[in-house]
Amino acid sequence: MKIYRCVECKEYTMEKEHCGQACVSVEPAKYSPDDKYAELTRKAKEEERTAQGLI
Ligand SMILES: [Zn+2]
Repeated sequence: MKIYRCVECKEYTMEKEHCGQACVSVEPAKYSPDDKYAELTRKAKEEERTAQGLI
């Protein structure tokens, strides 16, 4: 699956064209620092939930 971004309205789309313009393809950033941070946040939340369940 490929994701494109409209150069005109900045919307993400799966269409190759949007607003009458050719869209630019967007590569999914799987290993971005943001994702790693999100993963850590998710783990912290899970631990928090587990701790609350034990009380
Ligand atoms: Zn557009």
